[in-house]
Amino acid sequence: MSLDTPGLWAVTAPAAPALTPLAGDATADLAVVGAGYTGLSAALTAAEAGARVVVLEAEGIGAGGSGRNVGLVNAGLWIMPDEVEARLSPGNPLPGLLANAPAAVWAMIERHQIACEARPVGTLHCAPDAAGLAALAERERQWQARQVAVRLLSPEETRARTGSDRFHGALFDPRAGTVQPLAYARGLGQAALSAGARIHAPSPVVSADRKGGEWILTTPGGRVTAPRVIWAGNAYGQGPAANKAVAIMPYFNFATDPLPEDLRRSILPGGEGAWDTATVLSSFRLDAAGRFVIGSIGQLGVDLAVHEGWARRMMAQLYPQLRGQGFAHRWYGRIGTTPDALPRLFEAGEGAFGITGYNGRGIAPGTVLGRALARAALGEEKLPPLAPAKPDPLRGLRALGLRAGAAAMHLIDRRD
Ligand SMILES: Cc1cc2nc3c(=O)[nH]c(=O)nc-3n(C[C@H](O)[C@H](O)[C@H](O)COP(=O)(O)OP(=O)(O)OC[C@H]3O[C@@H](n4cnc5c(N)ncnc54)[C@H](O)[C@@H]3O)c2cc1C
Repeated sequence: MSLDTPGLWAVTAPAAPALTPLAGDATADLAVVGAGYTGLSAALTAAEAGARVVVLEAEGIGAGGSGRNVGLVNAGLWIMPDEVEARLSPGNPLPGLLANAPAAVWAMIERHQIACEARPVGTLHCAPDAAGLAALAERERQWQARQVAVRLLSPEETRARTGSDRFHGALFDPRAGTVQPLAYARGLGQAALSAGARIHAPSPVVSADRKGGEWILTTPGGRVTAPRVIWAGNAYGQGPAANKAVAIMPYFNFATDPLPEDLRRSILPGGEGAWDTATVLSSFRLDAAGRFVIGSIGQLGVDLAVHEGWARRMMAQLYPQLRGQGFAHRWYGRIGTTPDALPRLFEAGEGAFGITGYNGRGIAPGTVLGRALARAALGEEKLPPLAPAKPDPLRGLRALGLRAGAAAMHLIDRRD
């Protein structure tokens, strides 16, 4: 059985809107390729502005990273705020946009009444060692210098908030929170449909040709002609949506069955999502029904036993009361990474562009950058300047290193 799926999230998400493949020819003001957060947020924004929008999706809404992730709605990027700014040109609006991006997600959920287990109660970035604690203290300093109310928790507070005594401290970010990721994607899709966008799936775009100032996107069942195209295939891009700028980092999750109430209350009692500062990081959270979800870097193919063994040990280290709990769900997905951890502008000819490479932080960025892409396509505003998605000749090697390195770490890490 393939574990390359949305796993648990497909079991608990509300039903997807009914979609049909594209049949015959259609015209639009804007064509969007890919129905994840980026493509759907773009489609929704453009449709609300009155544009005729057609979304072409190879499989189904949220089939890519948007339906498989951990659901941590975080602000900023992986790298520290100072580093983000140092790597961009002065005055680039991207850092400000991403710092406030979770608020845009919560507003989107509220406005469209998206049932996606949204918990805007903050996240906990946890330090399992002294080096991690120092890094969090620096992150706190940099955010606070930007008037953001993140707070480094003491070991005692961290123990109370996580329910685990494994950490030296944790950075609490009140802007953040969790969602059921596939439910959020499906809700965005429904909102885009309600605003008048058409979404066709399964309709993989197999070729893109420019003729007479228009793009002609071809799928097995028909063609869409539009002057502008947003490419939102990201790490799942195939055919003309494929980009060679990102190295794929696999990330897996395991989830238990719903825990009994007494166990559930002892774990993350405030409902925050959590992850740690380790190089091969771990993430953990509960879903709305009280399933414990634990994840890390790795692919569940030949490496399944290594990662599952690690997940069982890590779960027991974090929460000894969960020792011996089995996993009822296992799945993994692809994260698009860039060498400097910044997203890239994916350009595919006149009037055809997208943003890719969120480096594992795409829920809030996909939402706000999808919107920015639509506004740029409609000529309403400029995109934040980003480096172009140039082919990275080392991406195959980097991907191999990420997968093999994580498997080696999980094999070695046999602490109980
Ligand atoms: C396991 C995992 C955990 C993660 N955890 C988090 C997290 O906790 N927080 C966070 O913020 N981010 C997280 N991420 C990252 C986040 O999920 C992604 O950055 C985000 O979903 C990207 O959204 P997207 O819309 O740009 O792309 P995707 O959601 O990947 O969507 C791309 C879509 O394009 C379609 N497509 C591709 N090519 C074509 C084509 N030729 N024709 C038609 N359709 C095409 C695909 O089928 C797919 O549906 C995680 C990712 C993974 C995989």
